Amino acid sequence: MKKDRIYLFDTTLRDGQQTPGIDFSVEDKIAIAGMLDEFGLDYVEGGYPGANPTDTAFFARKRTARAKFVAFGMTKRAGISASNDPGLAALLDSQSDAICLVAKSWDYHVRVALGCSNEENLESIAESVRAVVASGREAMIDCEHFFDGYKANPDYALACATTAFTSGARWVVLCDTNGGTQPAEVRAIVEAVIAAGVPGANLGIHAHNDTGQAVANTLAAVEAGVRQIQGTLNGIGERCGNANLVTLVPTLALKETYAERFDIGIDTDMLTGLTKLSHTFDELLNRSPDHQAPYVGASAFATKAGIHASALLKDPRTYEHVTPESVGNLRKVMVSDQGGKANFINALKLRGITVAKDDPKLDRLIQIVKEREATGYAYEGADASFALLAYRTLGTVPDFFHVESFRVMVERRYDANGQLKTVSEAVVRLIVDGETMMSVAEGHGPVNALDLALRKDLGKYQSEIADLELADYKVRILNGGTEAITRVLIESTDASGARWWTVGVSDNIIDASFQALMDSIVYKLLKNRGEAGKAAAE
Ligand SMILES: [Zn+2]
Repeated sequence: MKKDRIYLFDTTLRDGQQTPGIDFSVEDKIAIAGMLDEFGLDYVEGGYPGANPTDTAFFARKRTARAKFVAFGMTKRAGISASNDPGLAALLDSQSDAICLVAKSWDYHVRVALGCSNEENLESIAESVRAVVASGREAMIDCEHFFDGYKANPDYALACATTAFTSGARWVVLCDTNGGTQPAEVRAIVEAVIAAGVPGANLGIHAHNDTGQAVANTLAAVEAGVRQIQGTLNGIGERCGNANLVTLVPTLALKETYAERFDIGIDTDMLTGLTKLSHTFDELLNRSPDHQAPYVGASAFATKAGIHASALLKDPRTYEHVTPESVGNLRKVMVSDQGGKANFINALKLRGITVAKDDPKLDRLIQIVKEREATGYAYEGADASFALLAYRTLGTVPDFFHVESFRVMVERRYDANGQLKTVSEAVVRLIVDGETMMSVAEGHGPVNALDLALRKDLGKYQSEIADLELADYKVRILNGGTEAITRVLIESTDASGARWWTVGVSDNIIDASFQALMDSIVYKLLKNRGEAGKAAAE
């Protein structure tokens, strides 16, 4: 039996941006779009070109290789033609493959928010879709407040959907904008839309999680015939969030009831990257991954042995609904279990390191990682530090240079003009090839001063790190108060466009930063020698 294709549409960079406390930079957006693209999603929606400088810059180039790159905006305003609408023009100027336009589909909002007639709104939908199609792009219409609009005026909501479809929209997306619709209602209303003439193969669902049912509503829509699902990484989004793609993807791929009918374009191999995708995204947001997240949480496959101990040891799978390996997660039953080891071997293989299962150095590495993670290190978000640790434990990393000591001073004082200023200065003493050198630098804050001093003179390696740049610096306090443990995560990049993440942990923020900076520099030197190329590309 031929399976129906379900298309996965990610709106992390557009709707996810509405999450309180989240504000993506262009660099963040480029990194996230790359992760989504690499994972294998069909559509990556990037934001509103023309609406703010970040999104306009982001859309100056296409940011995906495989996935369709989608720009979001509004249908043309009533009273002017599509060709004279500046908002639509900015969308058509963007480097996008598809354009998703939000349209009112609740007559109340047409009257109150748009202040135009129902007919004018339908005309805006039709003309805007035609303008997108004429530009050679795929057109989509997000029918805002569709379910609430349908309940208030079913004929008008249906007219909006059918107008979009007959005007040439590839997708008509039904949005539960307020997030209050229940699964049975979603199912019945989607069936009514299909009966009105928009085929399920052209329908999408955009669900919000205000009653905790965004995933359930999405699946209800799929059961009713919808073939595009919209969601975000880890379910971020306004208020209670959007449908969580990290939950939906494995459910559709692994649960027989869906897997036997649908193909989502993510094969079993790609699916093993899911946990990493989810956790790397949390690290980028500088927040702790949810331990109880379905499929990818650290506790998702952790069982306290207790009275089930013997059964668990015999066959842990009797206590699991899917295998942790299928989504790249780890089983947590015993510290030295074989599943954990196999996962480690896989993680190393991804970085081009092969190691025999019975190699005692592998046990040593697992031991070190577990000990360090217990003290606050997080290697999921710091690939380069993990790779360095593996190289050091399993093989050797050259001693490029040795830092003998460093000192950082912060002084807050009044300058000659009576202005209060804070000055940071760092002194680093290091040895390269038996030669001691001392560098002094002032910086914007102590970490910047230390970074500048550390990279000021690396002797014969200096030219090699000329293109090394720090792209981001994140600090997380692991337990409250000023005596807390601090984790520093640094993102670095170089002229090749590669990006890598390193981590440092200490009860001293400068020391934690120093560790992460050192790892970044050593990683860069290894990378220059072609020994860390694989990990750098990840
Ligand atoms: Zn939304």
